[in-house]
Amino acid sequence: GGGGASSVVVSAAAASRRLPVGVRKPPLRVVVTGGAGFVGSHLVDELLARGDSVIVVDNFFTGRKENVARHLADPRFELIRHDVVEPILLEVDQIYHLACPASPVHYKFNPIKTIKTNVMGTLNMLGLAKRVGARFLLTSTSEVYGDPLEHPQKESYWGHVNPIGVRSCYDEGKRTAETLTMDYHRGAGVEVRIARIFNTYGPRMCLDDGRVVSNFVAQTLRKQPMTVYGDGKQTRSFQYVSDLVFLVDGLITLMESEHIGPFNLGNPGEFTMLELAQVVKETIDPSARVEFKPNTADDPHMRKPDISKAKSLLHWEPKISLKQGLPRMVSDFQKRIMDEKR
Ligand code: NAD
Ligand code: UDP
Ligand code: UDP
Repeated sequence: GGGGASSVVVSAAAASRRLPVGVRKPPLRVVVTGGAGFVGSHLVDELLARGDSVIVVDNFFTGRKENVARHLADPRFELIRHDVVEPILLEVDQIYHLACPASPVHYKFNPIKTIKTNVMGTLNMLGLAKRVGARFLLTSTSEVYGDPLEHPQKESYWGHVNPIGVRSCYDEGKRTAETLTMDYHRGAGVEVRIARIFNTYGPRMCLDDGRVVSNFVAQTLRKQPMTVYGDGKQTRSFQYVSDLVFLVDGLITLMESEHIGPFNLGNPGEFTMLELAQVVKETIDPSARVEFKPNTADDPHMRKPDISKAKSLLHWEPKISLKQGLPRMVSDFQKRIMDEKR
């Protein structure tokens, strides 16, 4: 019949809408807020590698252009300097909402800004998701459990959080972000996913971001003593970044799944800070020392994820132990510390 070319286009478009379940969808338009940061930049690498178009929205508070510089010439990549506290209009299929400082030193630096980012930033991204019908994923945190009275922590645990403390801008902020996410789901029909991420480390963390793994590694490489806060007997469970973001694992799996969550995403391997210092010492420098410093207020005494929900519903499980993961971040830190000296 007439109009061959246009009917081909129309039927191709129609066919792509009728793809059978399990067949890959055409490339998606994905926005990653906070995509110039540590976790976000690794996620961006994965999304571009699988063929998606990626827009990073970041105000560069803790993120760095260098983290995504390798993609700047890629036509499927776009970097927008924007603060999520302000509204933004975009046309996208999926939103990974990561924008928020994650290190206690950074989030306490300007607590009002932190809670605005968590509340107004999340509200704006949910408003965007509602307007364009995009699926929205929130990177929440193990901090929603506060100083937990249940150990290890299951998703069903409601937490033990100080609402007026110095960490509240972050942990109450993330709790509110979870509330907004569920209310936009129930009230406005937005498709949502919630990940509760436990302490994650790896290449591209800020050298001096104040988190314990980056501190201990940078201090040891600079021949400074590792600063152990308090008695060093408090525990955390450390997850290597690839276990969190990779295509077959973690965040992308959750986004593509039919499950809302929340899901704990973390490595159940639990260490005291003194045990962590010992592993850093064995990995980097047998002559490394520790020095004790007073602890910060409201520091959670212990933290360890129960990941049975993610295991059974997402078939997700971290693979890289602390002893395997640490050496992979050391070369990145070594290189950046050398660059500093030049
Ligand atoms: P990060 O500090 O490296 O990255 C955060 C990014 O968000 C940065 O690029 C920063 O510039 C950007 N950002 C901050 N405020 C913004 C704003 N108002 N507007 C636009 N961009 C803004 O931290 P990360 O470790 O990569 O954490 C990413 C996300 O994962 C955060 O939401 C964090 O709460 C969550 N998370 C991380 C961990 C972890 O251990 N890394 C644990 C739990 C939760
Ligand atoms: N918003 C945005 N981009 C959009 C749509 C909405 O930034 O594409 C913001 C909007 O400015 C508002 C928030 O998201 O501050 C919540 O939007 P919603 O439509 O849910 O609420 P309303 O605008 O009715 O208060
Ligand atoms: N910590 C430490 N030395 C440091 C930085 C942190 O002993 O140089 C401790 C801190 O008191 C806490 C744990 O390490 O008990 C984890 O702190 P981090 O800031 O990495 O993350 P959090 O899990 O508290 O958000």
